[in-house]
Parts: sequence; structure tokens; C-alpha cells
Amino acid sequence: MTELELELEKKEIIRTYRKLLRHAKPFLKDDDAKIIKRAFNMSQEAHKNMRRRSGEPYIFHPLAVAQICVEEIGLGTTSIISALLHDVVEDTEMEIEDIERHFGKKVAKIIDGLTKISDVFEYGSSQQAENFRKMLLTLSDDVRVILVKLADRLHNMRTLGSMPRHKQIRVSSETIYLYAPLAHRLGLYAIKSELEDLYLKYTQSAQYAEIVNKINASKAPRSRFVRNFISPIQKELNKRRFKFTIKGRPKSIYSIWNKMNTQAIPFEKVYDLFAIRIILDLDQEMEKAACWQVYSIVTDYYQPNPDRLRDWISTPKSNGYESLHTTVMSKTGTWVEVQIRTKRMDEIAEKGYAAHWKYKGLDSSSSESGLEAWIGKVREILDHENSSAIEFVNDFKHSLFNKEIFVFTPKGELKKLPGGGTALDFAFEIHSEIGARCIGAKVNQKLVPINYKLKTGDQVEILTSNKQRPNEGWLSFVITSKGRTRIKDELKEQKKSAASEGKEIVQRKLKQIKLTLNSENLDKLLDKFNLNSALDFYYLVGKGKIDPKEIKKIKALSDKPKKSALKTVSDSESLQRKIKEATGEKRDQLLIGEDMDIVQYSLAPCCNPISGDDVFGFVSTHEGIKIHRVNCPNASELLSKHGHRVIKAKWTSQSEVSFLAGLKIKGTDRVGMMNDVTRIISSELRVNMRSVSIESDNGIFEGSIQLYVQDTKHLLKLTKRLENIEGVEEVVRFDVH
Ligand code: MN
Repeated sequence: MTELELELEKKEIIRTYRKLLRHAKPFLKDDDAKIIKRAFNMSQEAHKNMRRRSGEPYIFHPLAVAQICVEEIGLGTTSIISALLHDVVEDTEMEIEDIERHFGKKVAKIIDGLTKISDVFEYGSSQQAENFRKMLLTLSDDVRVILVKLADRLHNMRTLGSMPRHKQIRVSSETIYLYAPLAHRLGLYAIKSELEDLYLKYTQSAQYAEIVNKINASKAPRSRFVRNFISPIQKELNKRRFKFTIKGRPKSIYSIWNKMNTQAIPFEKVYDLFAIRIILDLDQEMEKAACWQVYSIVTDYYQPNPDRLRDWISTPKSNGYESLHTTVMSKTGTWVEVQIRTKRMDEIAEKGYAAHWKYKGLDSSSSESGLEAWIGKVREILDHENSSAIEFVNDFKHSLFNKEIFVFTPKGELKKLPGGGTALDFAFEIHSEIGARCIGAKVNQKLVPINYKLKTGDQVEILTSNKQRPNEGWLSFVITSKGRTRIKDELKEQKKSAASEGKEIVQRKLKQIKLTLNSENLDKLLDKFNLNSALDFYYLVGKGKIDPKEIKKIKALSDKPKKSALKTVSDSESLQRKIKEATGEKRDQLLIGEDMDIVQYSLAPCCNPISGDDVFGFVSTHEGIKIHRVNCPNASELLSKHGHRVIKAKWTSQSEVSFLAGLKIKGTDRVGMMNDVTRIISSELRVNMRSVSIESDNGIFEGSIQLYVQDTKHLLKLTKRLENIEGVEEVVRFDVH
């Protein structure tokens, strides 16, 4: 770099810092500006010789994170300082104690929560989970840890382009698995959708680009539609002297993509590409009445769909979201969602709890607020030190569930449950003891089993019995973390008591053949029954699943030499090495179709990848390497929780394997339709079908075909040919399971 370039760089840093101060100004008190300056100088000094992968000086990253905290989350001085220093302890010589000396306990604690667990410790596959857990442990002290972390993650995602491909996939997966739901749970809608869109951009670039293009291409007719739609409403609102803004809000790219995928429809069929948002500017005490008044105006012009009215003003979501939603029929025959809210509600929706504080004051005593309740729940999970980090992340995920339902106790008290919650979840929600003794429930006076899925508005009465005990099966339908934790505790207890019975049996049996229960004999027994833990062994004996007579047989084994167990390679590093050894230095990825004889791999049945799909290899513990599609429903979980077991994989063209794929065909039925479809598949393109099912209902024809293709190109060609058949309206790929 030349002298001049360095000079320009320095100027740019100062400019960025000044911009931060300008945005923070309204929050600043006393000598806040001075302290921020000190934090900036310290961070700049600490990161002095560091550059990001993109080549720019490192300090731009903490500056950007601080900027997000101020501008997009609405946080103040403490968070700005923490953001500026968030990477200092992890990446430089600086210690937490130094931070505390200069900036006090509060900042030190936040930064400690943001500092990852050092790599020195052997945390294995769950390190990411451990980091996450550590971050949440500080949550009970200060929510700002999470908010700064989200800002950090957002900036990392925004600059992910300069990272290598495998890192992009791992970081994106983590983001979609944990951080986007977390942002959603905290009510940070803007950040949540940006994280989701970026995830899509880096994991499914082609589909992302296609949707962006289509959104842009349809812009002009869409704005015309919005103008026509809102014009009568605008006039009426003006006449009644409302202060308001009204606009068409496009749906996020991710949610469009999600809809296309879950409903197997093309872009053109997604009807709710945008929503109309009416934002009123008025005093807080008039809010509710005014919003309903606007609702009444809207529905005077457009017919509402009675099933699609959502009133989150009377009952806000537990992340604080307030708004009135309705879906109405436009004059051109399409459904349009209209969101009615006030400026205050809008700010809370975009900035989440940070905006709440602005309106309510940080230390308001409203402990009933959703966030408090949620933090309480997270704390409950955290207090359970027994659970492994992975288990913890799973349970935590459950507590982040997007949808929630509102149900009532027999006395009319409102309870919020995650969508999909069952009668048993409800029982645990009331009291863990009631959950543990629950045998059934009455929902709206009718008797239902404990796994009955509740719906909003249900009134639930729980039936209990003292003889009831939780069992393993309950875990398959209980989704609240409170319930799951209680069940797991109980199961552990049950297991322990069965195990202690089992241990006595083992001791007795060994005694009969004049052996004692020492670690050597225990090892032999574990070997014989192919078990890893003594607890499991005793438990199986105690439960009668292992015949006590078998135990005596170890006498015969005693003198035989121990055979070394055949072990599967279970970490990707040694595997990468193995592949390299076998294929030459330059290859650091698995070539599917070529390396078959070197390394055993198979195609994952959950997503059935076909040649040409974007894929990765995953080292499973028992079945060698599994090849998954990058957009496999399980991918984000695998990648974020076991990132180190992922290996790069690529298709080679030589492969002659066929792949199973599925196509859904829809259209209007006619004589000979079925014939045309099967003729093209089997004779013209010589594709083998595994199964075909075609249904015809009142002239509409719907077929679902599973077939074997060579690669994505082959599949595309087939799709194009099928689309050209007279009467066929759409052909969409679906995942074969
Ligand atoms: Mn960072």
C-alpha cells in the first residue's frame, strides 16, 4: 500500500467514526462522547495491525457493529462501547480485566458474554452450541449481550462475500438455525428478514437471484396496483383528518422462497408478494379505537376474509409485536393483506425491545411483559446444567418457535403456547407437577388425549392421576422447554433407579462365578454387549432387556485377547487427510462419482441429491459419509451444530448413477393426458419411473411422479418437455423421501 492510500484509509476510518457519533448524539448524556471516543481509540489501537479478509482495516468491523446497534436497534452508549470492543478480548492481547478497569463492570460483563470460548478446550462437535449457551448465560444479566451479538452477526453476514465457500455455508446455516429465530423472538423484524435473505443469497444463489429479478421485473405494474388500491382509502383518511403514511411493503425474498418451496408453487403463484401498511401518527391513548376505525374504512371499500383477521393490538405477540392485520379482496380479484398500526407499534415491530424501552422506560416494573417471561424461560433451561450443549440448543430452539397460540384455563385466564403445543404442554405450563401427573384433558368440554394439539381459543381443563408417570414417548409431542426438561429429569431418575437394581443383579451374578465387579470385568461386559456406558448396561439389566444368564458367560471370555473394535472415522479432519492421501495433495474435496472406492459414501435419503445439485458431505457416526443437498431440510441443523464434520463435495461428470427425483404436474385434464405424460417420460426421454400417481377431480388433473434422472440438466429438460404438453399448467420438483 502506498503512503497516500494509507492516508486515505485513515481519513475513511475517522469519517465512519464521526458518522457513528452523529447518529448516537440524541442518546448521549454528560461525558458519554468522551467515553465512546476512548473505546474507539482503544479498539483501534488493539486491532492496529489486523485486516479483515476483504483487505480493509479490522476497525471497520467494530465500527459497523456499533453503527447497527445505534441506527437499526436503537441502543445507547453502553452498547456502543461494547460493540466497539466486542472482538478485542478474543482477538488481541487485551484482557477482560483491562476492559473492566477502563469502562466498568457492566461493559466488561457484556464483552465477556460476547467472547467465544477459547479453542484450547476440547468441546468437540458442540463447540458452537457451547458458545451459544455461554452467550445466553449472560442474557439474564443483560439483554444487550444478545443484541450486540446480533449486530455482530448481521455485519458478518453482510460481508460474507469475501469468505471461502464452505465458511459461507457454515455461517449462513448457523444464522438461519439460531440467529434469525432469535432476532424474531426479540421482535427485530428488519434484522430477522435481512439475515434470512442473506442466508438464501449464500446458500442458494441461483434461486435468490431469480426471485430478485422477478421482483424487480414486476415492480411497475405492482406500484400501479398499489396506487389504485390505496387511493380511496387515502381520500377517506384525509377527509377524517388522520395523520398517516401508507405504503406497499414487499415481502422478503426469503419468505417468498419459503412459500414457493413449502407449497410447491412458482413465483407467479405467490399472491401475497406485498402487504399494504397504514401507519397512524397519534397519541397512545387513542391507538386502539383509531386502528379499528381505519379497519372499518378499509373494509367499507374491500371485502375482508373473515378467517384472516389478526388482532395483535388487544393481545400483542409475546415478542411485543402489535398490529391489526386483515386480508381483503381487491377490485382485480386478488387477496391483499392490510396492516394497520401506529408509529409507536411500527417502531417496536422494526426495532424490537430497544424501542419498547424508549416508550416504557428501561426499568419499568411491567414484569408481565413478554420479554421478561421469555427470559425467565430461557433461565429455566440454562439452570439445567445437566443437559448437554446440543440438547440445550435444541430445547432453546423450541422456545423460539415462530407461531404462538392463545388458550384459556377453565377460569378464563390467558396462556400463550408455541404453535403445535399439546394438552400436555399446557399442563406443564400450569405447573410441572400437573404436567407429570396429566392423563388427559377436556378441551372445550370434550375429552381429548394428552397429545391433542391445541388451537387458539381453546379452553383447557387438565385431568390428573397420582399413578401417572412421565415416559419416553411424551418427548415426541411435548414441545415447550419447560415440559421437556421436566420429562427428561424424570426419565433420568427412572433410569437411575432401574440401573441401581441392575447393578445389584450384575454383582450377584458375578459373585456366583467367583468374579467381582471391578473395572476390568465391567469393560469386558460392556464389550460383550457392545455398550458404551456402565449406566446403560445396568439399566438394561435392571429392565430385564439383558438376560442375567448372559453375564455369566464372560468367564469364558476372560482369557481371550481383546480384539480391537472396528471404528468408523468420525472426524472430518482425519477423513480429509485420508482423501488427500488417496487422491493426491491438491484435492481437498470429495468428488462424488469418482472417489467411491476410496471412501464410502451414500446419498442422504432425506433430500435425495441428484448430480448437479449443490451438495456437501457429512460424516455420520455409523454410516460413513452422507451426501446432502445444501438446501436439505436438515442441512442448517447439521452445519450449525456439527460444522467440523462437514466436508466439501462436488459432482463429477463421469458418474453414471441415476438419481431419484420427484415432479408434481398440475393441469386441466383431457382424454389422453396420462398417456402423453408417460410417453414423454418413458419413451422419448428414456427415463425410468419409480412410481406414478395421478388424480383427476372435476377436470383438474394432479400427478406426482418419482423417476430416475442423470442430473439436474436432465431433470430440467424433462420439466420443459412436460410443461409443453397441452393442458399442463405447472411442473415443480419436490423432495422424495
Ligand atoms: Mn465481530
